[in-house]
Amino acid sequence: MSGGQRIAATLIPGDGIGPEITASVVAVLDALGAPFAWEEHVAGMAGIAAKGDPLPGATLDSIARTKLALKGPLTTPVGGGFKSINVTLRQKFSLYANLRPARTILPGGRFEDIDIVLVRENLEGFYAAMEHYMPIGDDPKAIAMSAGFNSRAECRRICEYAFEYARKNGRKKVTLVHKANILKALTGIFLEEGREVARKYAGEIECNDRIVDACAMQLVLDPWQYDVIVTTNLFGDILSDLIAGLVGGLGMAPGANIGPEAAIFEAVHGSAPDIAGKGIANPLALMMAAGLMLRHVGRHDLADRLTAAIDKTVRVDAVRTGDLGGRANTEGLTKALIGNLA
Ligand code: ATP
Ligand code: MG
Repeated sequence: MSGGQRIAATLIPGDGIGPEITASVVAVLDALGAPFAWEEHVAGMAGIAAKGDPLPGATLDSIARTKLALKGPLTTPVGGGFKSINVTLRQKFSLYANLRPARTILPGGRFEDIDIVLVRENLEGFYAAMEHYMPIGDDPKAIAMSAGFNSRAECRRICEYAFEYARKNGRKKVTLVHKANILKALTGIFLEEGREVARKYAGEIECNDRIVDACAMQLVLDPWQYDVIVTTNLFGDILSDLIAGLVGGLGMAPGANIGPEAAIFEAVHGSAPDIAGKGIANPLALMMAAGLMLRHVGRHDLADRLTAAIDKTVRVDAVRTGDLGGRANTEGLTKALIGNLA
């Protein structure tokens, strides 16, 4: 961005390969002229090492202030009673929308030309973890029960997010995915609210709905019919991995967790401790997460240039890291990407 306004953003390099892939992404964003003014902070094992806390107050304060973060993979320390860092962030900042795009990049995969964005509700449904057992006779765990809940307000909010995302990103169709034929109340209100929201976009964004099991089958038989999918927590968890599988697995999958108080962008993969420090990690998932971040702040121009550079580098020039069957290291791929920024 030439001479424009800088946007403060929190940068969390993370654990394992996190610092390596973050450095690559920052170098490419700098070459692109991205507007972010980074505030770098630690979390995960790096947070423990530096401040004895996997989620230090200074890191949380920075996210609260900037409302925008790019986060490398974090390892939640086992033992010591630490709560999952990702769950803590989700709850702390009410990150209700989980955004998981899946787009074909590598040629020769299972499917060409896939471009689907899945929007998953992140706070309700069956993931509220209200579970308990009931005894029968001398078996204290004879029956297990789990209570899920969806609120109308949240169903409306997630559907509004999906339609607004479609509008801002030039997408044409939103599919509401539910199980309202069986879970008539729980997912029925989701379908009702979704249809209500769709009315406001009539004539601009097409809306249809699918029962989740049929959707799963169609995603494998004819994924090209989908554009934006919006669904409740559990279905979204499963389908987001399914669509990642359509385009080559979790290794290249970006994600975002978005709420009114913050938006956090990340790679879906973990910290890959087996290859950490070797300079061979693939930075593309985090790179694409940075692309989502650019779109989130309205810089579609820069996101489009970044996407074009990734496509040219990986598809045409065939510069790929080892996990994609190539011979490039992180630095080589980074240089090739920078060279391909139009
Ligand atoms: P964590 O405990 O943080 O979840 P993990 O090893 O369990 O880490 P991933 O980090 O997702 O899970 O790694 C799974 C496999 O995929 C590992 O063999 C790892 O080396 C590989 N992998 C993951 N991400 C990348 C990447 N960006 N580049 C190259 N290989 C990767
Ligand atoms: Mg893992």
